[in-house]
Amino acid sequence: MQVLILAGTTEANALARLLEGHSTLAATVSLAGRTNRPSRTALPYRSGGFGGVEGLADYLRANRVGAMVDATHPFAAGISTNAAAAAERTGVPSMALERPAWQPGPGDHWIPVPDLDAAAEALRSLGHRVLVTTGRQELVPYEAAPDKHYVIRTIDPPEPPPGLADAVYIQDRGPFDRESEAALMAEHGIDVLVTKNSGGDATRGKLDAARERGIPVMLVQRPARPEGVPVHHDPEAVRQWLEERAAADHAPS
Ligand code: NAP
Repeated sequence: MQVLILAGTTEANALARLLEGHSTLAATVSLAGRTNRPSRTALPYRSGGFGGVEGLADYLRANRVGAMVDATHPFAAGISTNAAAAAERTGVPSMALERPAWQPGPGDHWIPVPDLDAAAEALRSLGHRVLVTTGRQELVPYEAAPDKHYVIRTIDPPEPPPGLADAVYIQDRGPFDRESEAALMAEHGIDVLVTKNSGGDATRGKLDAARERGIPVMLVQRPARPEGVPVHHDPEAVRQWLEERAAADHAPS
């Protein structure tokens, strides 16, 4: 059975590795194509947008895709909405694979905000030295709080950089552990962190470091998922679901 994995996350890579050399599942991994040097597995890849819902529906039909897994980032709302609509339009069964959101524990001082505009607004009255880890594509909102010292960490350089007078740019790719995050915060005298509630272990070290440092965390909440698409957190469970779909496809009617 042909499988399409909408990828770009640790979970997508984990699922892809489970499907390498599989006897009944022939998976193709789809990347948006924005990150230079994306991490890859041995599965075949395609890269770049499909051209909206219709383009994705055409792709599913043309490639006789029997099941689709939306393993994109929890904040990649556009592609998830398109995937749900294309699945409905074509009748291709789909499933989302998503890491659980982070939950606060004792000692955490998290301030939930709905989006980056709200984060920048809240920053006006909180903190002076800000560590930003919300991605390179959405830095313009911080221009609404211009009088801060920003330390902006992204995987690839922001293009173009935002209009911030006092900003340090760091390019680095996780995973980041608690010790290295604590060292980064100490080096730059960070007194507030802004991050998305991405979930997962690879980047949660900054939350632990912030708690130990006693600083607040502005946590951008996840956008709502499209209705009607079941969500799994475990790549192994998604592989089982795909195997069941493949078996059902080949069962005599
Ligand atoms: P988005 O706003 O949801 O997607 C914008 C457009 O990019 C989509 O409409 C689609 O174009 C194309 N696209 C996105 N993911 C794709 C994929 N896996 N394969 C083919 N086309 C894709 O997404 P985004 O926030 O720009 O994120 C882009 C990718 O980076 C996603 O795959 C996501 O998992 C990954 N990522 C995002 C974040 C984040 O914080 N947003 C963080 C880490 C990784 P068409 O309409 O032309 O099909």
